[in-house]
Amino acid sequence: MSVVSRFAPSPTGYLHVGGARTALYAWLVARAAGGKFVLRIEDTDRERSTQEAIDAIFEGMRWLGLTWDEEPIYQTQRFERYGELTQQLMQEDKAYKCYCSQERLEKMREEQMAAGVKPRYDGKCRHLTAAEHEARAGEPFVIRFRNPQEGSVVFDDHIRGRIEISNQELDDLIIARTDGTPTYNFCVVVDDWDMGITHVVRGEDHINNTPRQINILAALGAPIPEYAHVSMILGDDGKKLSKRHGAVSVTEYRDKGYLPEAMINYLVRLGWSHGDQEVFSREELIKIFKLSDINKAASAFNTEKLNWLNQHYMKTLPVEQVAAELAWHFEELGVATEDGPALVEVVKLQAERVKTLREMADISRYFFEAVTEFDADAAKKHLRPVAKEPLADIQQRLAGLTNWNAESIHQAIQDTCAALEVGMGKVGMPLRVAATGGGNSPSLDATLALLDQQAVVARIGLALDFIAAREAS
Ligand code: GLU
Repeated sequence: MSVVSRFAPSPTGYLHVGGARTALYAWLVARAAGGKFVLRIEDTDRERSTQEAIDAIFEGMRWLGLTWDEEPIYQTQRFERYGELTQQLMQEDKAYKCYCSQERLEKMREEQMAAGVKPRYDGKCRHLTAAEHEARAGEPFVIRFRNPQEGSVVFDDHIRGRIEISNQELDDLIIARTDGTPTYNFCVVVDDWDMGITHVVRGEDHINNTPRQINILAALGAPIPEYAHVSMILGDDGKKLSKRHGAVSVTEYRDKGYLPEAMINYLVRLGWSHGDQEVFSREELIKIFKLSDINKAASAFNTEKLNWLNQHYMKTLPVEQVAAELAWHFEELGVATEDGPALVEVVKLQAERVKTLREMADISRYFFEAVTEFDADAAKKHLRPVAKEPLADIQQRLAGLTNWNAESIHQAIQDTCAALEVGMGKVGMPLRVAATGGGNSPSLDATLALLDQQAVVARIGLALDFIAAREAS
């Protein structure tokens, strides 16, 4: 059997963390088996479904590298097919017209609730004769599926194990509304069948739908797929993950400077494990992923772990790849990077120091933008009159260097220290503030080497002016 799995989002919002994790698991099932992964857009709720949401979902999937193998299916384009199969079920007497009014159903529901029993349709129209139907021709009706009344539905959920529901618990589901439109569960069944789905991976909030869907599939003579219902994701406070916990859309994580590799690694571990291993490449996941290794318990979001993974990937992915992502973040910040060091060099210097690419871009501005002012705290501490002499000395030495590289810069700094008989800090810190505008930067010689020689000399001049102005005031 060739595996076909799907992701079936309702396009009522962006691709959130929970949805992305479900999509990832479904994608891995297909990729691990060398099968197919397909998308279905469940857009029958026309009021709440939007094109922007559809685009946002595709964008999130693409960013994560969750590729799909066929053109996505849209439920709103398949009404004819749903209608056809409703008719087929009618002809086979596996579905029937129900004329019960809203009032009757509501009253029944209230009585059942009052009596403490689970509200369900009582089957009034289930046994109407042909003559009775004839007599009611012209009245509005819905179409109900004739759910089996005996036995039970059993399925082996890959995550939850064997689940058995007695058919007596299930009433006759409406599959077409009064206006003829199909209902949710019916669409899902028809689509899963037509799309040849062998593995349904979805949120646990759908678990109650599964026995109903299995009964309808069976009535249609369709094969029953395998099911895996994944648990919820909670925020770090133990409540259901929501906006309150920060970013929830995956593209928001992209915008904040997370790498898709980190996000994938993070998402897969939200409820799935493989021994105590934490770091997994995509290729490795495809080799080892098994649905049965998914945990039944809800998992909690942990930003620290995501940060840790992000830094890990910034440090270990091919540096060109990280640099390409970094370029985008500079663009977003409005920083032009054409004139300045190669971004790969910036990544090599800064990856150790930041949690996200956005942060990396933000603290690396001085490589590409003029330093026009100094960080107030750093200037107060390091751009003082005592720094005048060391700065003037190092300025001259740096200006005279004929080979501008970390080694010669390092030597120049040493020479200044020796000539003035001062320690490294007395030269290094003022120089750092002068060259980068602040008191935090990677190793000074490596940082300066990435900057333009003339620019460094000019920035030291600016720092000297700053000290002079301070003295004068
Ligand atoms: N559209 C449903 C959702 O977004 C998924 C249904 C399914 O996977 O069967 O929750």
